Amino acid sequence: MTAIVKPSMLAMLGGGQLGRFFVVSAQKLGYQVTVLDPDPNSPAGKLADVHLCQKYDDQDALDIIIKTCKAASTEFENIPAKTLECLQKAIIVRPSAYAVSIAQNRILEKSFLKKNNFPVGDFKVIETVNDIKSVDSSLFPAILKIAQFGYDGKGQIHVNNMEELNRAFTQFKLQPCVLEKKLNLHTEVSVVMARSNDDKKVFYPLIENKHVNGILDNSTIPANIDKKLSECARDIADRLSTALEYVGVMAVEFFIANGSIFVNEIAPRPHNSGHFSLDACLNNQFDQQVRALVGLPLVDTSIHSKAIMVNLLGDVWFQGDQLISPPFEEIKAENIAIHLYGKKDPRRGRKMGHFTVTGDDTKEILSAVKLIRAKLSM
Ligand code: ADP
Ligand code: MG
Repeated sequence: MTAIVKPSMLAMLGGGQLGRFFVVSAQKLGYQVTVLDPDPNSPAGKLADVHLCQKYDDQDALDIIIKTCKAASTEFENIPAKTLECLQKAIIVRPSAYAVSIAQNRILEKSFLKKNNFPVGDFKVIETVNDIKSVDSSLFPAILKIAQFGYDGKGQIHVNNMEELNRAFTQFKLQPCVLEKKLNLHTEVSVVMARSNDDKKVFYPLIENKHVNGILDNSTIPANIDKKLSECARDIADRLSTALEYVGVMAVEFFIANGSIFVNEIAPRPHNSGHFSLDACLNNQFDQQVRALVGLPLVDTSIHSKAIMVNLLGDVWFQGDQLISPPFEEIKAENIAIHLYGKKDPRRGRKMGHFTVTGDDTKEILSAVKLIRAKLSM
């Protein structure tokens, strides 16, 4: 396998923070990047060599990518599968339109997992009002999730009975949904891994995740869970990547409930919970994404430190209704890294950045995290 030569242009579909870190890694490795994102202020567009400020299905923009880029990857899982199909006729696209199309649609994703005997919690596909009639009451309490375009807990409504389910489905304007039984979660964990075109795989250590209001709040590495479950998670991610013929960086979110492990969802891209790798590893998840895309060998995923990563939501920029500048300059230590994504408008619940504390001792890391939270009133 020969790698794409440097300094070829690579395309990144999506200009959010994940795309921004991809640009940094790609440029570090000697490549150039064209970012496609309709937002003129997109975090990745600002660092890219070229920013195509067009919609994701704009044919002129896709033609420019085909003409000027050797390969394309995505950071935004709602990228239209048609866009990826169009590009992959002409240039390398990793992950493929097929893999992304499954991961971006909860109905296809859940059905794929079930068909291939991966463990998933009980669910029912709801596409019509008729589907509601045959819902078994043992599924309640449940969560109705729109099949596409949900993120950070958006596009989800908790329902306890038929009446609430009917109301929620109407609220979603009868869009296709899945209804998931609410699991009594013990922990959430994720596996971030990369698979190359020649079936080489690398795995980051298991990550333990805490969500608040459906949004990732913090991730701890390594996860403090039973070794058997941890091996099981890794094995599932391994087999899943093969089943999807996946090339690139993939994250699998898991639920641990009642002593068993269930796949929650697949992210066809680097993952928020993998951000620790920017500061606790020699090679971060975005380095692997670039490498898998251009055909360079995947590299070491081991951690040189333990870590806790904490998301900085727009809420940190508010004191009541008042916008403030958080006192980041007061937080200084060699083992603390603050990453801000360059987003202009802080909004409550919007991911504006994150910080990571590294060290040898989880207790010490935890007390540093507490001090930082106090400083930032979070
Ligand atoms: P998103 O695309 O927003 O990440 P998820 O399906 O991962 O959507 O849901 C977000 C979070 O909501 C999960 O990480 C978990 O904390 C909670 N959640 C989602 N589904 C369930 C479920 N079936 N049972 C219990 N908690 C759930
Ligand atoms: Mg999720």
